[in-house]
Amino acid sequence: MAEETIFSKIIRQEIPTPLLYQDDLVTAFRDISPQADTHILIIPNKLIPTVNDVQESDELALGRMITVAKKLAADEGIAEDGYRLIMNCNSHGGQEVYHIHMHLVGGQPLGRMLSIK
Ligand code: AMP
Repeated sequence: MAEETIFSKIIRQEIPTPLLYQDDLVTAFRDISPQADTHILIIPNKLIPTVNDVQESDELALGRMITVAKKLAADEGIAEDGYRLIMNCNSHGGQEVYHIHMHLVGGQPLGRMLSIK
C-alpha cells in the first residue's frame, strides 16, 4: 500500500488549500512555490505514487487531468499565449511528492524546455 502524501490531505481538505477544481477523479490547486506567474497542480484523487505505477484503469483520471488543464488554462487567460504541462517521475525527473501530479505552468514565456543542455 503506497504511503499517503500531503496531497491526499489537500484532496480531503484536511489541509484547507483553496481548490481551483475538484470532481470525482481529479483535484487542482495552486503550487505553494510557484515557478511561473501561473503554476497549478492537477492531481488524480486516487493515490498513484509515480507515472511508473499508472495502470490502464487509471486512463479516465489521466485524461481528465488534461481536460481540466485545458479548462484552467482558459480560466487563467493563458490558453492563447500557451503554457507547459509537466509530470516528473522519480529522482532523475525531479519528483518530490510521490502522488502523481501535472504541473500547469505559464503566464510568461517559459524558455527552453530543459536546462541540462
Ligand atoms: P514535483 O517536484 O514534480 O514532485 O513537484 C511537487 C510540487 O508540489 C512542487 O512544485 C511543490 O512546490 C508543490 N507542493 C508541495 N507541497 C505543496 C502544498 N502543500 N501545496 C501546494 N503545492 C505543494
